[in-house]
Amino acid sequence: MEKKSDKKMLALFNSKEAKQIKEEICEIGRRLWAREYVDANGGNISCRLAPGLFICTPTLVSKGFMTPDMLCLVDDKGNQLLGKIKRSSEITTHLAILNAVPEAKAVVHAHPVHATAFAVAGFEPPTCLIPEMEVFVGTVPIAPYRTPGSPQMADVVAPLAPKHQSIMLGNHGLICWGKSVEDAYFKVEITDAYCRTLVVAMSIPTAFTSISGDEVKKLLEMRKNLGMPDHRFNWSASQIAAEDPWEAMGFGESSCGCGCGCSCGSGEKSSKKKGGGKKSKK
Ligand SMILES: [Zn+2]
Repeated sequence: MEKKSDKKMLALFNSKEAKQIKEEICEIGRRLWAREYVDANGGNISCRLAPGLFICTPTLVSKGFMTPDMLCLVDDKGNQLLGKIKRSSEITTHLAILNAVPEAKAVVHAHPVHATAFAVAGFEPPTCLIPEMEVFVGTVPIAPYRTPGSPQMADVVAPLAPKHQSIMLGNHGLICWGKSVEDAYFKVEITDAYCRTLVVAMSIPTAFTSISGDEVKKLLEMRKNLGMPDHRFNWSASQIAAEDPWEAMGFGESSCGCGCGCSCGSGEKSSKKKGGGKKSKK
């Protein structure tokens, strides 16, 4: 497996900085597995080591039980330079992000159930509901389905990465980038917790509330000050809140039909019930 290796490359791969990155990747792998964000050999992690050089996880290994000696060194095209196990086939998707976004230091890909459920439904999570999501993650697009690890997968993810730190992969999972391996992992945690909260909230029979456009603007200002990207920075409050997130999820009065002016015939006064829901454009 080891090719093109010279003493300099080997020294870099065994340097103090590389050692820290390898340990952090193994630790984040344990967290991914412990939180059931990855199953079997699923998920992968990568981190920038030097210009054009990246450390990444190997293929066909549980991310919960890796040791630093199992990790790989690849170049910016995904060619494996060092490491005793073959590198992940999905490294090309990571590199699409790392090559497109210079400030991205690390990428984490996983299959957390709640975020993946939105990706399977083809439904982009609506905004204006929880501050944590607005400040630390922003909006989450869904890249159309492509064969995992294929050049086509890289092609659909690359243009989304400069504006989005958390990207759903249609019918597949979630991929996030950050300023460190842990930072990228935090985006995975926040995105999945958000999706999970929405799924649970949808089961509670009540009228739902959302955060106003003016308040979300304040959260986006915090996001901007933290140096994170978001295409809504120049939007007005009314643009940000143009869509009722609950309406988008099919909880609008127009779709309930329960005695409030529509025609389901139940005769019950329940202001918002589940209806159609809006699908993302694929
Ligand atoms: Zn995957």
